[in-house]
Amino acid sequence: VGGKIPRGILLVGPPGTGKTLLAKAVAGESGVPFFSLSGSEFVEMFVGLGAARVRDLFKQAKEKAPCIIFIDELDALGKARGINMAGGNDEREQTLNQLLVELDGFDPNIGVILMAATNRPEILDPALLRPGRFDRQILVDRPDKKGRQDILQIYLDKVETASDIDAERIAGMTAGMVGADLANLVNEAVLLAVRQDRQRIGMADIEEAVERVVAGLEKKNRVINPEEKRIVAYHELGHAIVAMALPGTDPVQKISIIPRGIAALGYTMQVPTEDRFLMRKTELENRIAVLMGGRAAESLVFGDVSTGAHNDLSRAADIARSMVKKFGMSARLGQVYFARERQAPMLGPLQGAGGEYSDETAKIIDEEVRRIVDDQYAVAFGILEAHRPLLESTAATLLADEVIQGEALNALADAVAKEQASIGRGESQGASNSIAA
Ligand code: ZN
Repeated sequence: VGGKIPRGILLVGPPGTGKTLLAKAVAGESGVPFFSLSGSEFVEMFVGLGAARVRDLFKQAKEKAPCIIFIDELDALGKARGINMAGGNDEREQTLNQLLVELDGFDPNIGVILMAATNRPEILDPALLRPGRFDRQILVDRPDKKGRQDILQIYLDKVETASDIDAERIAGMTAGMVGADLANLVNEAVLLAVRQDRQRIGMADIEEAVERVVAGLEKKNRVINPEEKRIVAYHELGHAIVAMALPGTDPVQKISIIPRGIAALGYTMQVPTEDRFLMRKTELENRIAVLMGGRAAESLVFGDVSTGAHNDLSRAADIARSMVKKFGMSARLGQVYFARERQAPMLGPLQGAGGEYSDETAKIIDEEVRRIVDDQYAVAFGILEAHRPLLESTAATLLADEVIQGEALNALADAVAKEQASIGRGESQGASNSIAA
């Protein structure tokens, strides 16, 4: 009809989502030769060698046309020129310039299709993304629940499984994981089963593997003193009880004070029931309240606070700041977008232009962030105060058993719900109203 074939296709997505596999699949389906190289191979090269390799690659490809050229980790050689002033980037610039020359130099109608992959499109040199170069961008995103279930099924089919294995349930526990994580997860489960001389993996192995992947390796032998253990127990129960008392929060799956990995002393595992694309304001507030629950419990029980909450505080402040600056959820500041973000060049040059505000507004933003977090801290504190006897009795159990899960956890959730019903819904309701102040 007179149109032109697109010249370059850029696969954009987080690491481990299968961009390279997708490129290989395209080559396989089309039945043409496939030339691939990785951007990272060029990083440590002598001056001039990188440019020569790019030249050779295109020369070979033109001889073998029709064919596909695939450049993995394009960002390693396609970083915007002039970003790194520390020197030593001459070589990369030469390679990049050669690539641009080759991109413009060949006639797409001879049948050479260029594909590349990157997980950092925002640092790419804008010249690479101009029309006639990598002008098609395809998003290869993290899989949703159905996608994870399908991916899991592929890996589960390759190993011996017990009858209780349920790919849909595993998919529900692994929100945010990419294909590579899921492959790793199944393999971890196999290793756990083999270590116990079992021939098949069961659901228990998968659950243990999820915990390993999510929270780091279990370290039962790490010593914490009894006083620390008490603080951790109340802190974790604080998160759990606040989560159980507030509507619309992710269900608590497990409360543990067994130290894991380096960072977390204990943890409360909340498993999202579904992948979320939209969140309501009250849900964000409830999420902050749950994060503040740990510190609120420490303060309520010990009259003192510890450093254990620093990760909670940073996550809560992040959410509150986004509510004020990005989502227009502060009545004082109105529906104005204040975030200053570096936009990916591929989204166009002008979209990142917002985010100008005065010093006075900056001050109000800080005040609003503080108010939101403080309000939700008060909500968490109120909930724990109302459930104090339950908090105390459960803490004793948690200190003895180190873990609360399964039936004991359900019993706790029921008890919280029952008490919550008799208290009335005053607490959380009052908090969401106070946001309009
Ligand atoms: Zn915490």
